[in-house]
Amino acid sequence: MVVVVDPDVCVLCGLCTAVCPPNAMELTPTQLRVLPNCTDCGWCVPYCPVGAISGGRPVPLRVRPKTGPS
Ligand code: SF4
Ligand code: SF4
Repeated sequence: MVVVVDPDVCVLCGLCTAVCPPNAMELTPTQLRVLPNCTDCGWCVPYCPVGAISGGRPVPLRVRPKTGPS
């Protein structure tokens, strides 16, 4: 499933660009772009703090980042 970023939800924080393995996300002052070298791995999806990214392959629960206090 192709990864899609909802521009109405994205707050341009840049977190996803820092975790993308092939560096396939480009942050500009006005938008976040998914570049053609995106592999749809799904790794960035759980890192987005506002849930703006959808699609990609499911990432196993055990390797998902913690989203709350432990
Ligand atoms: S799905 Fe994977 S390759 Fe594509 S932008 Fe997210 S982390 Fe990067
Ligand atoms: S992590 Fe989410 S809110 Fe932040 S730049 Fe990426 S898509 Fe936008």
